[in-house]
Amino acid sequence: MKILVLNAGSSSIKYQLFAMPQQRIIARGTIERIGENNSIVQHVSLMDDSEKKWQNQEVIIDHRQGLEKVSALLLDKEYGVIEHPNEVAVVGHRVVHGGEYFREAVAITDEVQRRIEQLNTLAPLHNPHNLAGIDVASEVFSQAQQVAVFDTAYHQTLPDYAFRYPVPNELYSKHQIRVYGMHGTSHRYIARATAAYLNRPLSKLNLISIHLGNGCSIAAIQEGRSIDTSMGLTPLAGLMMGTRSGDIDPAIPYYLQRTANMDLEAIDYLLNNDSGLKGITENNDVRIITQQYEEGDEKARLAIKMYCYRIKKYIGAYVAVLGSVDAIVFTAGVGENSALIRQKSCEGLDKLGIIVDGEKNAQFSSEARSIHASGSTADVLVIPTNEELSIAQQAYEVVQ
Ligand code: ADP
Repeated sequence: MKILVLNAGSSSIKYQLFAMPQQRIIARGTIERIGENNSIVQHVSLMDDSEKKWQNQEVIIDHRQGLEKVSALLLDKEYGVIEHPNEVAVVGHRVVHGGEYFREAVAITDEVQRRIEQLNTLAPLHNPHNLAGIDVASEVFSQAQQVAVFDTAYHQTLPDYAFRYPVPNELYSKHQIRVYGMHGTSHRYIARATAAYLNRPLSKLNLISIHLGNGCSIAAIQEGRSIDTSMGLTPLAGLMMGTRSGDIDPAIPYYLQRTANMDLEAIDYLLNNDSGLKGITENNDVRIITQQYEEGDEKARLAIKMYCYRIKKYIGAYVAVLGSVDAIVFTAGVGENSALIRQKSCEGLDKLGIIVDGEKNAQFSSEARSIHASGSTADVLVIPTNEELSIAQQAYEVVQ
């Protein structure tokens, strides 16, 4: 069965076509700068172990034209991998916000689309584009079953005392203000991949999953279920990120409004786009900051210290929340690749039973691996995440 995974953003579409249940990628690509007159289209076909790449700059005015392009590329005589659109049996859509209604992936119906639309206020930058992707895909791949996979769903198992904010009740009952958490698809995938790596049942594992990409989040996973996570109502909360501040004193925006005369929109932009690592070093790429750190740059030193200190605080908090921890797992661009960040985030945690082996940690690999020392009671692991595969797996489960 062929499952197309679609991630429709505000100005981009990312796609991967999987053969399931073999979990083999047969094509992938991106369309960026949709709506501008120099959109970039990249497509790779991966049939019979040979990789064929195609790239072009052209005008893609909207998501409809974008998905028609994807369909044309999948059907292309030279770069295509299918002969008829009907060969795509399922389209799995990444949907950022599923609110409290969606606790797992679902087959898309008119009712489901209506519910997703109602959640637009909770994710105004994402859900409307995800919906546009669903609309167009239902026409372009009209024979396929459309499935929605939500970024928030995995965290719907948080207990009420963890997901509620200490504010008046009606903020929750009238305005749905609570912790939802994001990166659920990644944390879910990591939980399962960790159980497979350790060859133990997930229902018997307590894990701390640390997703460090441009966005960063951490989840406390008890017996396979998420019981706390660092992102909140929005993806701005929690760890220090590439350009997002993470946790700050909630009074800072009002203070800025009063003392710096900034309006709410400017503050929102500042905390989402100009803060985090970028706010401290003017850069959000950990590769560049690591190089500057090694050259003795003072801003880079501070940024790395802050970033790891905040991860360490959350690890400590989640050890307390879980009571005992079987494994701490690093994942995503930074978590999979930065030995420095992993080392510094776990430094001084030996009393909690968390000890990283410097040599194992420094070895580079793209495979799942363990990096803890022999005396560590918790395993410390690096496991590559794969959100697209997780969406394909969930979509497959729904149609099965
Ligand atoms: P997202 O999906 O959130 O955009 P990724 O998971 O792809 O992010 O992670 C992107 C980040 O990973 C980059 O900002 C970069 O800082 C970091 N990264 C990638 N490769 C390395 C590396 N070799 N060393 C350190 N950091 C890296």
